[in-house]
Amino acid sequence: MTPDVRPLIAGNWKMNGTLREAAALAEGVRAGLEGVRGADLLICPTFLHLHVAAASMGWKPVAIGGQDCSAEANGAHTGDVSAAMLADAGCGYVILGHSERRADHGESDALVQAKARAAIAAGLIPIVCVGETEAQRDSGEAEAVVAAQLAGSLPPDFAGAKGVVAYEPVWAIGTGRTPTNDDIAAMHGRMRAELAGRFPGAGETTRLLYGGSVKPSNAAAILALPNVDGALVGGASLKAEDFLAIAAAVPA
Ligand code: PEP
Repeated sequence: MTPDVRPLIAGNWKMNGTLREAAALAEGVRAGLEGVRGADLLICPTFLHLHVAAASMGWKPVAIGGQDCSAEANGAHTGDVSAAMLADAGCGYVILGHSERRADHGESDALVQAKARAAIAAGLIPIVCVGETEAQRDSGEAEAVVAAQLAGSLPPDFAGAKGVVAYEPVWAIGTGRTPTNDDIAAMHGRMRAELAGRFPGAGETTRLLYGGSVKPSNAAAILALPNVDGALVGGASLKAEDFLAIAAAVPA
């Protein structure tokens, strides 16, 4: 945790479930909120399920976010969704540059930066994802890779817009494997230094989330690490009980 930074626990629902299941999941999260004191919560359903999640929350107290947005403001971009459309649908956040989008859609740091600019222009808080592959970690390049992704993916107005960074080692996503707590702390320390250097006065308190196989059994230890200001949760966010248990692991 970082002093004076309220942690954020974000659920990335990815491309899962039916409309009915999304409604039930959102309702399950809303119904269990009294056990969560120390963190803000965010759920990020697929575009088509945003409206049921937003309706369940009555726009509060759990924030709603998209999993991607276009870098363009509007116009002839078939199949894309703009940041303004997400804001209009009740979103406060948008996940950008997730490793699955970088891998599946060839998203570059430059494109992620352009999307982050579009998100900020629409009043959304971007959650920019970075993280190394297993080969990069094994060859000792992890911190340099992440520092380069930060330099390339974050726009100049990122910190002022209260942007969020999520460190998600690619090899830890959906695998049940996590870095050691020392490795997470070291990476988050490096990211803090990069952000404080680039955005003096704001980078010191930018939320830095950890993501990659966070579950109720490891959440408390990870969330207690220095410079870990919350979690981006994939698989475990699809069960309301597990997502709430992770959020409840943040001390009140
Ligand atoms: C993710 O994809 O953002 C993620 C963290 O997934 P999981 O928690 O399933 O590893």
